[in-house]
Amino acid sequence: MKILKSSSELKKELERLESKGRRIGFVPTMGALHKGHLSLLDFASKENDVVVVSIFVNPTQFNDKSDYKKYPRILEKDIEKLNKVKCDYVFTPDENEMYPEEDNREFSFGNLDKVMEGKHRPGHFRGVALIVSKLFEVVKPHKAYFGEKDFQQVAVIKHITEQMKFDIEIVSCPIIREEDGLAMSSRNMLLSDEQRANVSLISRTLFEAKENSKSLTVQETKDWVIRTINENPLLDVEYFEIVDDSSLEPITEWKQTRGTVGCVAVHVGNIRLIDNVRFYS
Ligand code: AMP
Repeated sequence: MKILKSSSELKKELERLESKGRRIGFVPTMGALHKGHLSLLDFASKENDVVVVSIFVNPTQFNDKSDYKKYPRILEKDIEKLNKVKCDYVFTPDENEMYPEEDNREFSFGNLDKVMEGKHRPGHFRGVALIVSKLFEVVKPHKAYFGEKDFQQVAVIKHITEQMKFDIEIVSCPIIREEDGLAMSSRNMLLSDEQRANVSLISRTLFEAKENSKSLTVQETKDWVIRTINENPLLDVEYFEIVDDSSLEPITEWKQTRGTVGCVAVHVGNIRLIDNVRFYS
């Protein structure tokens, strides 16, 4: 496994491998790796010859500077984990490498950044689109792997991949959860023991909502989820939306849509967690 900080070096090595016909699979991350990240690597290693992971806490996607500051950075531990799985290149650029100068590129997301994460984290998806397109330009993968935990992010990335005509297949991978159902997240390590003991209510409520939805309207299901999570004094729902899985438009009746997903963001003290559940495929 090679650890590289330089884009030009990585680009050169990968272009050499590409020219020999090797298929390149790419997993972009912000580090503090857990089994959710490793599951993406697993998919990448089964479907490609070369696996590339990037670890970069991307400042432009944090609308909240204190969130950026406290985001966990544990590169040595990450490298230990990557050493135990199939991973050929770890790209660990610093800020100067990714943003040598201001990049004013703009993207158009249509409705995709007007709802949920886009609405509550202004500028977030522009930052995501910016870093992912820069990374795609360096790595030029055949396939890139993203987790459905960040459901809206996958939709945004598929959209910009098409818009920018990247010849890359975007693969979305299922959410990996802790035993009590909590969606794995790098931010979970910031939770206190008391908070950790309470946050499993989030996924439990989503799973129950899926059951309850058979006898409730969309609005009743939404109200029930928000009320149930907010009844816990440690948790504060920022939004819960039930949306069409491709347009991300909120739905008002179950029958109006084919794929339907319920997405939630919850504040736990000064930590913000997201999760989602599929109501209909
Ligand atoms: P992050 O390091 O949080 O930017 O995440 C890097 C990639 O891992 C993204 O595509 C995430 O959606 C994905 N990911 C994060 N948590 C999980 C999880 N629990 N299950 C599956 N994928 C995940």
